[in-house]
Amino acid sequence: MNTNAFSYRHIGPREEDQKAMLDTLGVDSIEDLIYQTIPDGIRLEKPLDLDEPMNEYEYMTHIHELSKKNKVFKSYIGLGYHPTIMPAVIQRNILENPGWYTAYTPYQAEIAQGRLEALLNFQTMITDLTGMEIANASLLDEGTAAAEAMSLLFAVRDREQKKAEIVKFFVSDSVLPQTIDVLKTRALPIGIDLVIGDENTFEFGSDYFGALLQYPGKNGVITDIKSFIEKATEANIKTAVAADIMSLLLLEAPGKFGADVVVGTTQRFGIPMGYGGPHAAYFATKETYKRELPGRIIGVTKDADGNRALRMALQTREQHIKRDRATSNICTAQVLLAVMAGMYSVYHGPIGLKNIAESINLRARKLAEGLSILGVKVSSQNYFDTLEVTVDSQKLKPIAEKAEVNLFYADPSTAYISINETTSDNDLIYLLSIFETYIESSDSKIELNSNPSNSIPNFANRKTEYLQEEVFNSYHSETEMMRYIKSLERKDLSLNHSMISLGSCTMKLNAASEMLPLSWPNWGTMHPFAPIEQAEGYQIVLKSLENYLTEITGFAATSLQPNSGAQGEYAGLMVIKAYHESRGEGHRNICLIPSSAHGTNPASAVMAGMQVVVTKSTEHGNIDVEDLKQKAEQHKDNLAALMVTYPSTHGVYESAIKEITKIIHDNGGQVYMDGANMNAQVGLTNPGNIGADVCHLNLHKTFAIPHGGGGPGVGPICVAEQLVPFLPGNPVINKGGDDAITAISAAPYGSALVCLISYGYIKMLGASGLTKATEIAILNANYIKERLEGHYKTLYSGERGRAAHEMIIDCRPFKAFGIEVSDIAKRLMDYGFHAPTVSFPVAGTMMVEPTESESKEEMDRFCDALISIKHEIENCNSSEPNNVLKNAPHTLELLTADDWNLPYSRKQAAYPLDFIKLNKFWPSVRRVDDAYGDRNLICTCAPIEDYIEA
Ligand SMILES: *Cc1c(COP(=O)(O)O)cnc(C)c1O
Repeated sequence: MNTNAFSYRHIGPREEDQKAMLDTLGVDSIEDLIYQTIPDGIRLEKPLDLDEPMNEYEYMTHIHELSKKNKVFKSYIGLGYHPTIMPAVIQRNILENPGWYTAYTPYQAEIAQGRLEALLNFQTMITDLTGMEIANASLLDEGTAAAEAMSLLFAVRDREQKKAEIVKFFVSDSVLPQTIDVLKTRALPIGIDLVIGDENTFEFGSDYFGALLQYPGKNGVITDIKSFIEKATEANIKTAVAADIMSLLLLEAPGKFGADVVVGTTQRFGIPMGYGGPHAAYFATKETYKRELPGRIIGVTKDADGNRALRMALQTREQHIKRDRATSNICTAQVLLAVMAGMYSVYHGPIGLKNIAESINLRARKLAEGLSILGVKVSSQNYFDTLEVTVDSQKLKPIAEKAEVNLFYADPSTAYISINETTSDNDLIYLLSIFETYIESSDSKIELNSNPSNSIPNFANRKTEYLQEEVFNSYHSETEMMRYIKSLERKDLSLNHSMISLGSCTMKLNAASEMLPLSWPNWGTMHPFAPIEQAEGYQIVLKSLENYLTEITGFAATSLQPNSGAQGEYAGLMVIKAYHESRGEGHRNICLIPSSAHGTNPASAVMAGMQVVVTKSTEHGNIDVEDLKQKAEQHKDNLAALMVTYPSTHGVYESAIKEITKIIHDNGGQVYMDGANMNAQVGLTNPGNIGADVCHLNLHKTFAIPHGGGGPGVGPICVAEQLVPFLPGNPVINKGGDDAITAISAAPYGSALVCLISYGYIKMLGASGLTKATEIAILNANYIKERLEGHYKTLYSGERGRAAHEMIIDCRPFKAFGIEVSDIAKRLMDYGFHAPTVSFPVAGTMMVEPTESESKEEMDRFCDALISIKHEIENCNSSEPNNVLKNAPHTLELLTADDWNLPYSRKQAAYPLDFIKLNKFWPSVRRVDDAYGDRNLICTCAPIEDYIEA
């Protein structure tokens, strides 16, 4: 036993516990259990070929050495990414705090009120700054948010008397190049005709349904969105504006001019560039589009006692429900980053923020005048923070780089210089000295005018107020801010309290050693478009990670670009599409999807322009092979792909999987494997081995990136040889296959910063540790299955009676006692546990996935809780809903009230088992009322006046 190995820390059950668990299962060894679990014929024959594992100390040294290979120059590149100052109070109390970063998406609202409030703050901030009516709780990045805006306007066009044949969408050529590339990818498959051009000469024809502008444009010019939107509105063209959030502190809100959608990134609000991400994008629109609005919306409602409570609103819009009728596949978003950006506003408040924006603008103006005095031509007149200068790029670039400064060289005679929150007067003088060298001047003319002339045109001067709500005007001292963050954290149940056994979501340990480097400036302060030779440390990490994932999946290459599992699905299908087209078979558009698939699967297929054909499942939860075969043959001329999850969403390794993949190949299709369940494969089998052609991985599930309360995520795709040429590219950085499809995400490597976590995870576990982790994940799941035997029925098992890494327990029989699965989920909160996945993939059930990181003691407590709840259910009666389950969860306020007249004791309500006393978690609200909140939709915090009136 190597007590110094990382696997000793990552894996929960101690060796003697593993023995006891195997005894409980009645098997002699892990090998026997795996033999009983994974079908013959799909096991790997040899161990993974990976580097020897490092212990935690060795890894720290290693990753620190690599960080020094990143040359962090001063970045004035702009293009949607800027150096920032993350307030230390946010870094220490949120980014570096497992109470925040290990939380799950707030589906169980009663134990998620903290992050729900933080997200409500984010939405309020966005609606205020954009001047719109409603905003969501974040999207993946600015590029994909713009694409979602285009899709929304496309989806609602007939509502505005636009006919289906109107498919043209105008995009200003001053939109960021990476955004345009993402738009191209998204437009084509759903039949949108993109027209890219100069907004100043655009003719507002009736054949356009919408238009997108950048405000300010990529070269810094403050676009006259006012006149454009006026003319567009007259021509019945809907408008979307991609707006720089920092500029909106000084510029009038696009909503005031009548924009229909406003999108952008909140990276500038204290989030590091991280070589491209993760950052929270925002999406704001008009109330009338609330049902088409992509992503999650947080709304206000009330709980069972009538108190204010928050929860995710309008969930019926989501792809989980809408499936192939969904217009967006967004699932995981960027919650942790949205929380941090919202907190940046809470901490600075409206005046502090305005001061930051003003000082950025002032320095840009000082620079403009300084450059003019030197004789450098500045063509910008109306700008916020970015100057366009006429230069000999080839001459300037080496001089600037020698001085460790990056600008953006747009073409041989143009450069952009973007000023940011970190820029000081000294930086300006240094920048001017670079230009002095460039113009080969000897007599120094460098000077900063302290009162340079205005650069914001009249129409764009901000008159609309913002952030008047109490929360943005209360926590400006560090003590108050620290306590505010803590007060929210205490309302949330995260992995630092207890096990979160969410099936399909793999809530495993997010080790501190994996997380620490994220705070280091040499990783944080790297611009995604910095010259590649400056990012050697990143290049080594990302290239190695690609190679590891390629080896683990048994494929030929990997792209790290997709920012979530669902984006991976979409990317993989687009790559399949490009492959068919390259063979002159572009007509192949049928995508077979089993009925048990995750909702993102059909939604992604539709986004990729495919037609979904659903195949049946058998009563054992397996794919109905006969039905699949029949449908594959029926559609053989047009079959594009099968999407299959393995092990299945029912937690079973289907033994027919190789037969299934063969049927698809025989009929001309490619096999897409949804890799959300990869935690049941790593080191034992792999997608290449079972005959798939492409899969995505959820690095935020299997590879230890924390869930962050609903993001960040990373959803790389790994592909077989024939698909490698089509891996996605980027318009600024040369990346992707030889016949790369256009971009899936804005940044070339997606969310590069958090890829460090998965890199560390694989580096420290190595081949043996990764395989052991999979084995113990399977052992843990089967141990829980065994312990619940006789109390709960497990729905599906493999041929030899075993579960995979997760199992579904049936709660439908309890309807006889008047109890629904949601009652069990809420009652678990009183026992200190987060519910497993509820009603996916089978309604009325719970899917339990403990992961390898949970100890035997914790699983025993969890099983004790479920068994105790089972006894409580047996005491319920369908004609009497006043019982301990229906009333769950119980708050401290309810239990300490002067009167108590419920038909059970307070002790039964709060401390039904002894272990709870040691670590009680108090839900902060009682059961939330979803329907009430949807009927009375409120998605912002009320302004101060409303509090005063009340
Ligand atoms: C989580 C999950 C997805 C979607 O992944 P996101 O990262 O949330 O977009 C897709 N399929 C399955 C089976 C999943 O569990």
